[in-house]
Amino acid sequence: MFAGKTTGLLRRIKSESGSGRTVAMIKSSKDTRYAKDSVVTHDGLKFPCWALPDLASFQHKLGDDEYQKLDVIGIDEAQFFEDLYDFCCKAADHDGKTIIVAGLDGDYLRRSFGSMLDVIPLADTVTKLTARCELCGGRAFFTWRKTSETKTELIGGSDLYMPVCRQHYVSGESAIESTRTVLESFKVPHDSQTEVSAVM
Ligand SMILES: [Zn+2]
Repeated sequence: MFAGKTTGLLRRIKSESGSGRTVAMIKSSKDTRYAKDSVVTHDGLKFPCWALPDLASFQHKLGDDEYQKLDVIGIDEAQFFEDLYDFCCKAADHDGKTIIVAGLDGDYLRRSFGSMLDVIPLADTVTKLTARCELCGGRAFFTWRKTSETKTELIGGSDLYMPVCRQHYVSGESAIESTRTVLESFKVPHDSQTEVSAVM
């Protein structure tokens, strides 16, 4: 979050489109923060997209002919798609598409988020992006949730989340741990990175 992953994804998609390839962009219909039929970056950049509940419905929605013509498919907020692995596998391996995936690898508790990490082994390249820690300006690897809401999928922007470095994530965690009793077992399965963009 805030590391410019949507901006980076849009840049890639526009560049592919500029070099004559046919592109399409997909985002999760769970994210209704901005326009429903556009991908919009934090700084206001816009691109038309398909807002879908799952990826399996994409080919049907688009139509077989249009799908065949596609060269490149961009997927934003990919952590929200449960069928990410199967879709990427089929589209890249069997249908010959280039898939550019952007999403969060970890949630606010630094647990693996959706299927994002599952598609890393499928990728040709992986780029880890980092934001700036809102408290010290250092490299931010983690997302700090500002509210006490504990469900994993809580969609929001800077109203709910802020990027933090390791030190401020850990110091914030210990402060919260001592004041909040509902939070049970903490697991920290993954090291570092906040956002991942994978190309297949
Ligand atoms: Zn910091």
